[in-house]
Amino acid sequence: MVYSSRVLALLLALCIALITTLFLSLFESVAASALLVAFFISFSVSYLLIFVVLEFLIFREINKIYKLVGKLKKKELSGLDREKPNALNPLKKINDDIYSFAELKQKEIDELKKLEAFRKEFIADVSHELKTPIFAAQGFVHTLLDGAVNDKTVRTKFLKKAAKSLDGLDILVQDLLTLSHIETGQIKMHFENVDLHKLTQEVFEQFEDKADKRDVRLRIENPGQKVFVYADWQRISQVMTNLISNAIKHSNDGSEVVVSFEVSKKNIITKVHDQGEGISAEHLNRIFERFYRVDKSRSREKGGTGLGLAIVKHVLDGHNTRAEVESTPGKGSVFSFKLPRAKSDVSDGADN
Ligand code: ADP
Repeated sequence: MVYSSRVLALLLALCIALITTLFLSLFESVAASALLVAFFISFSVSYLLIFVVLEFLIFREINKIYKLVGKLKKKELSGLDREKPNALNPLKKINDDIYSFAELKQKEIDELKKLEAFRKEFIADVSHELKTPIFAAQGFVHTLLDGAVNDKTVRTKFLKKAAKSLDGLDILVQDLLTLSHIETGQIKMHFENVDLHKLTQEVFEQFEDKADKRDVRLRIENPGQKVFVYADWQRISQVMTNLISNAIKHSNDGSEVVVSFEVSKKNIITKVHDQGEGISAEHLNRIFERFYRVDKSRSREKGGTGLGLAIVKHVLDGHNTRAEVESTPGKGSVFSFKLPRAKSDVSDGADN
């Protein structure tokens, strides 16, 4: 009660009026009626002034700050209206500062919550992905130990299957390590002038056997083209390896995987085309997520970890660019990414 602006104004105004009247009463010439008038005038003026100052400049702002802090305690930040800071009233500025601070903290909390959810999901995914090949290999080994080892034909078959599962596990762990190294920044990008033509040729050589087995032809569209970019050779080689490997994996037997380059004044767009099964629209914007596969069982069968495109995305992020994909189910897909032309090369102008 004492702390309301009205009561405080009343008490202060009474004090001021009394002091003024007592002071005037020291003069003998001042009549009693004049003292009464002086008392009332000084009381009313002081009351009005003090009340306005307390109510509108101090109490109202303090109440707002309390309300804000109360809402912050209840985490109801979204329901608050932000006020414009007022240069005349420092309390308004405090209010604004508290709001800004709370807003910043709320953003940080939201971000941490998102990361925590992501971490949980990631651990669940990794455990699941690790479990599958371990479980398969374990099954084969136990069957052998339970007696199948004595049957020569079954023995070799089961050992081969166990080895295949363990190979898959090895690839998965390698991919996870690559992703983790890129994310934690342990792999520093080493930018240099990169001959994309040479790089593609090297990647093609890695996959020659695999492509031959499926009768898939690997071709660079315009081999005479000069295609130098400014990038990290090793990382872009990883991107091309993953894209070309996917293109071969998902190609129809007897078809072609073609790498083409579009050279513009400042950039070069690399495209990997395949004539395979394609990807339907609902999956297109999810395939770059970790462990996302259009067809889980078929991908595993083909030796996929579900991390290839996630690695592509991360590496290209590190080059400030991103992968694009266009696909027609039943006809094939085109994966592409843009990189800046090599520094010494840009001054030569566009090749086409
Ligand atoms: P995976 O190791 O399973 O290939 P990726 O991250 O490389 O994982 O690819 C994710 C999914 O995207 C694949 O499982 C596959 O379904 C789809 N995909 C990727 N590239 C192609 C392609 N060239 N053609 C058709 N589908 C593709």
